[in-house]
Amino acid sequence: MKNILESPFVKEMIEVTSNMYRLGWDERNGGNVSYLLDEDELKEYLNLNNVIRNIPLMGLNEVDFDITPLLNKYFIVTGTGKYFKNVAKAPEVNLGIVRIKKEHIELLWGFEDGGRTTSEFPAHMLCHIARLSVNPKNRVIIHSHPTNTLAMNYVHELSDKDFSHTLWQMCTECIVVFPEGVGVLPWMLCGTVEIGMETAKKMHDFRLVIWAMHGVYASGETMDETFGLIETVEKAAQIYMLISDKKQINTITDNNLIEIAEFFKVNYRKEFLN
Ligand SMILES: [Zn+2]
Repeated sequence: MKNILESPFVKEMIEVTSNMYRLGWDERNGGNVSYLLDEDELKEYLNLNNVIRNIPLMGLNEVDFDITPLLNKYFIVTGTGKYFKNVAKAPEVNLGIVRIKKEHIELLWGFEDGGRTTSEFPAHMLCHIARLSVNPKNRVIIHSHPTNTLAMNYVHELSDKDFSHTLWQMCTECIVVFPEGVGVLPWMLCGTVEIGMETAKKMHDFRLVIWAMHGVYASGETMDETFGLIETVEKAAQIYMLISDKKQINTITDNNLIEIAEFFKVNYRKEFLN
């Protein structure tokens, strides 16, 4: 068996959580990450017949959604109550590798202090199901609290169209990175199946969904793509927060946006232009 701490997926989990902590997006136990793993790759690092213990299906919440599309799939995921700050120091305590079963999840590695998957696991699973239905290559879901994106929630209208349009206008390359725009949910109670369902609904149309006054849910085929998507939205929101209270004399017009999108051949959401 190869050393799991040297595996690319553990290294990526450490890198992404450390980066998000360093950027100030994931204070205390804020944020969570789940990463769909390839069984053949995982077999090189773990005996998949060795189940350490079973965890109730969705951790803190009793839920009744259909988990069938994820049955017997493997995820590496951050733990409930764990701090991103500590993942690099003790990955085997703060991360776990689980296999999804109908009635519970099987812990195959990690959570060595008796911990379990993030309390947002229902939302993660619902988002994986939604994204896999539109892109079978989707593997990553990240929840995070990027600072300027949250700040912008307090001072900007929260419709998908208006929020996306403003973000597109803040940096030239935004419309290339997220041509579909972003989805925005109104403030809702987190940790519930309801917010998970609403997020998953939006995830059919958008790779990134904003939870107003809370944070973002982002998805992607790779850790880099997913993290890069959050970074780009957060950068645009930062520009907005820097300029929104100043006299603005220049802008990226809708014609400019069309020019960029056509040049880079991206299929942007045309109804989000004015
Ligand atoms: Zn959160």
